[in-house]
Amino acid sequence: MSIVTLIARKRRGETLTPTEIEAFVQGFTRGEIPDYQAAAWLMAVCCQGMTPEETTALTLAMARSGRQIDLGDLADRAVDKHSSGGIGDKTTLVVAPLVAAAGLPVAKMSGRGLGFTGGTIDKLESIPGFRTALSPEEFVAQVRRLGLAVARQTPDLVPADAKLYALRDVTATVDCPPLIASSIMSKKIAGGARHIVLDVKVGSGAFLKTLPAARDLAGLMVTIGRQAGRRVAAVLSAMDQPLGGAVGNALEVAEAVATLRGAGPADLRQLALTLGRELLLLAGAAPDPATAEERLAACLDSGAAYEKFCAWVAAQGGDVRAVQEPERLPRAPHRQAVRAPTAGWVAAMDGEAIGWAAVALGAGRTVKDAPIDPAVGFVFRAKIGDRVAVGETLAEVHARTPDQAEQAARQVIQAITIVPEPVSPPPLVHTVLR
Ligand code: URA
Repeated sequence: MSIVTLIARKRRGETLTPTEIEAFVQGFTRGEIPDYQAAAWLMAVCCQGMTPEETTALTLAMARSGRQIDLGDLADRAVDKHSSGGIGDKTTLVVAPLVAAAGLPVAKMSGRGLGFTGGTIDKLESIPGFRTALSPEEFVAQVRRLGLAVARQTPDLVPADAKLYALRDVTATVDCPPLIASSIMSKKIAGGARHIVLDVKVGSGAFLKTLPAARDLAGLMVTIGRQAGRRVAAVLSAMDQPLGGAVGNALEVAEAVATLRGAGPADLRQLALTLGRELLLLAGAAPDPATAEERLAACLDSGAAYEKFCAWVAAQGGDVRAVQEPERLPRAPHRQAVRAPTAGWVAAMDGEAIGWAAVALGAGRTVKDAPIDPAVGFVFRAKIGDRVAVGETLAEVHARTPDQAEQAARQVIQAITIVPEPVSPPPLVHTVLR
């Protein structure tokens, strides 16, 4: 089967067979199809789309591209969550230890930053020493011992996604529903957990900007997961502005740690409780939503979730002192305040523009496999609905050089709309598909 024919067929909007899709995934994973042809195929998929059947075939082929984790007797209780990508979305760093502290085994495979959004793996790797490349045996042993493991795609685990993900990141082929669905669901299926909660982001800082588009993506992923024998729920959450205040890898770790210690932003805490609640309900570990949230809030407030986070960092080789004293995390040498140019109410934040400004600072990649700068990013002090005075600090830029800080500050000002009349804050969660 010729890859040139597959590219041409998809470019003309034809439907590919499962065998053709399998051949593409295997050929690319084995290195027989070069990046430039895979990138052309991805672009054709972005432009022409895929049927649900093609997306399912792509997902299953990707999940089969490496070993699939067998959690054995843990599988029936094990849970997993995944976000479709957002700005400042450090939810996994809070939800995973929280749910593990509540007694459910968490077995999760995550990705790096993608396009203008951040990724859990880059965030975790900003903790000195943290190891995200676990073998399937290490992964299972850690879930069994600690109740929690998060690993990235490796030559063993969903290698097709590792390669496609890195290529999509730098070829403008990220915001494409079938590619997002197959990337996420291949990792979820290969990860072995039976219960999966999807956090499908919608808004200016998400890949999908409208609720109907996010609903379609959520529906597609739920169907793929159920076809693969998983119990799946989807939370459609708002990404009209950064989640919490921090955007950038180490800054987000520090904010997640603050949340686990009871001092984090309210929206991050609430979203973590919501996603955790859905995981407990799916796994049959709580009788109703209110009881689930109460149990999780108790795990946060007692410090049990924070202790689980520290144990997790230690188990994956991370320096726990950097969690206990977050000033030990990587720090950027230059800080600059972004000040409100006018008085009024914050009405809108262009999440995508903020994400690209963070990438330009070095928090993400524009070239495949490039190193990132874990220290840089933003800490937002104002959110939509807040009243601000002229000159009040809207955000703080953390940059490697004064020039980069200045440039990023200009981009942030342009990304924030201030209006003269009061504005209501947007909802945090639009709906839950169970
Ligand atoms: N998360 C993923 O793992 N893949 C995507 O394509 C988007 C978000």
